[in-house]
Amino acid sequence: MKIDWSHLRAAAADVAGRAYAPYSQLRVGAAGLTGDGRVVTGCNVENASFGLTLCAECGLVSALHASRPAGQAGSAEPALVAVAVVAGDGAALLPCGRCRQLLLEAGGPGLLVDTARGPVPLGELLPAAFDNADLSARREPG
Ligand SMILES: [Zn+2]
Repeated sequence: MKIDWSHLRAAAADVAGRAYAPYSQLRVGAAGLTGDGRVVTGCNVENASFGLTLCAECGLVSALHASRPAGQAGSAEPALVAVAVVAGDGAALLPCGRCRQLLLEAGGPGLLVDTARGPVPLGELLPAAFDNADLSARREPG
């Protein structure tokens, strides 16, 4: 699949302009390409409690699931294949640790994440991650 990184970066920059960031003044936008060719976006949404703040990638993952065709509702496939995260000025940002974990379940370790030095697989940004295989392996019989 050809990835149009300039389109993804532009989509991320556009949605960054819609961010709600009155406390940090750091607007962030994220855009992801799905395996079936959809582009989903999210922006950060801050909260006076700070602990309830949502990163842009949280909104992106929610949009990924919310925009699935009816027959794919609740499915993990098609997954994200590429993600760009940018600040309000368009500069690339790396996802925080929590969002790397969220993106792992939405795209797997091969998900390409745009960085200032170019796209890198998510597995390089989140090595030895906890995932659903760990959960399945350690679940007590019910
Ligand atoms: Zn985050």
